[in-house]
Amino acid sequence: MDSHQPDTWQLRGGPAGLHIFNRNTGLNVLVDEIPVPSSLHSRAPRQVSIALTNRCDLACVHCYAPKSRDELRFDAITRWLAELDANGCLGIGFGGGEPTLYPEFARLCQHAARETRLSVSFTTHGHHIDRELAERLRGTVNFIRVSMDGVGATYESIRRKSFPELIANLDNVRDISRFGVNVVINKRTLPDLDEVVRIAADAGACELLLLPQMPVRNVQAIPEDALQDLCRWVNAYKGPLTLCINEASADGFPICDPLAGERGLRAYAHIDAMGVLKPSSYSKTGVQLGEGSVLQVLDQLADELVENDR
Ligand code: SF4
Repeated sequence: MDSHQPDTWQLRGGPAGLHIFNRNTGLNVLVDEIPVPSSLHSRAPRQVSIALTNRCDLACVHCYAPKSRDELRFDAITRWLAELDANGCLGIGFGGGEPTLYPEFARLCQHAARETRLSVSFTTHGHHIDRELAERLRGTVNFIRVSMDGVGATYESIRRKSFPELIANLDNVRDISRFGVNVVINKRTLPDLDEVVRIAADAGACELLLLPQMPVRNVQAIPEDALQDLCRWVNAYKGPLTLCINEASADGFPICDPLAGERGLRAYAHIDAMGVLKPSSYSKTGVQLGEGSVLQVLDQLADELVENDR
């Protein structure tokens, strides 16, 4: 990759051992013969997602992002990135809303590439990734997740955007970095999964992230029978894309998790577009980051979650 990113290795101590990571190659090495004392476990979550803005020009019914114009300040984000990087976080995922609508999106990715060792990914609907944006992002991003809820008419009925235009834009996405596709799984998208795999693989994708539909506003969670069908599809799958599933839906699926001891806020946290730190984008529990340190607010959030569980 033509990279703005120095080729540095990031080290992270945790309950499973010493985790060594290189963002440019995506190589993860877990040295599990070396027990890492808990006092040396990295304090930051392994992965943090950041909703840069709540703005989006689409109106998918399953969307969980509030329809508001909130967006994060550039200087606040860069301060959080520096702290996360210094405390063993391995990667950040920019999202929204639609992150490519964040006014300084390319500059932010360039900053993260140049000033931190964090792996940078983002999730996008893909319709704004033209040649010019691809040129500005190339070498600053390590992975892109493109939403593809079904193919053809299914996609267009959900996203109200042209499916051929999305596929054409995947050429630009592929010029930036490795990429995968995300599918919100419900009764409409499930029958399209084989076609999603075929089209995404032809376009150069390497991963398929399955997102069983969560309950949001007027939309219900994926019904149990559809979840069972998805599980059967996964068990029979022999396609070229690596399959992933979100942690909240992983029960009952054949998954491999070498870092199972690193759970909760040690594994993952989310910062929403109002600057609230949460255990996930769907969670109703969160603590405002303000001007303080991310690690201090993480401790407050952990206390609050314990309190809520009582
Ligand atoms: S593209 Fe993403 S952020 Fe925009 S409405 Fe759809 S789900 Fe929400």
